[in-house]
Amino acid sequence: MQPIELDRSAQNFIDQVEDLSHSHLSRCWHCLTCSGGCPFSEDMDYMPNTIIRMIQFGLKEKALSCSTIWLCVGCNTCSMECPNGVDVAAVMDGLRQMAIQEKIPVAEPGILSFHNAVIDSIARYGRTHKLEIMMRYKLARKDLFSDIDLGLKMMSRRKLDLMPSKVRDRESIRNIFKQNQTGR
Ligand code: SF4
Ligand code: SF4
Repeated sequence: MQPIELDRSAQNFIDQVEDLSHSHLSRCWHCLTCSGGCPFSEDMDYMPNTIIRMIQFGLKEKALSCSTIWLCVGCNTCSMECPNGVDVAAVMDGLRQMAIQEKIPVAEPGILSFHNAVIDSIARYGRTHKLEIMMRYKLARKDLFSDIDLGLKMMSRRKLDLMPSKVRDRESIRNIFKQNQTGR
């Protein structure tokens, strides 16, 4: 097979994803093991191995703007099963990071809103406060009432605490987030 000729920006994209995922993507031989084992592949617009193929071809915009990278839940099934040690879950994570940094329109904005609400809760309390996460998510989606029956049912069964549970050493949590923001 002829080697693929890539321009510099395509090669930079591949290098960036390889750095972020600590994987050698040229090792992927498209055996489909990752796609076959992925529990969410039916809902994805592209199979996990197709995403790897896009990266191999340097198709940055296509890879960063698809739904697949947001539908991936990071369960690691693909990474565990890949015979060539490609960490597909880390690739998806890296692509999500790049999409946000490069302000690419997010294909699944609801999923990003949910991620943000969870991270925000952990930054504040060191734990997830589910009621607040749901409220923030619903506010971000401008959809406060669609699941209200379910929310009330969960509250009546004590599945949602009104007040957040907090870790004692919240300063350490704040420092972790601060270091992450400054990229240290
Ligand atoms: S399991 Fe690994 S080698 Fe096989 S298609 Fe997926 S990434 Fe490529
Ligand atoms: S980590 Fe993502 S791509 Fe891999 S199997 Fe899980 S959901 Fe699918």
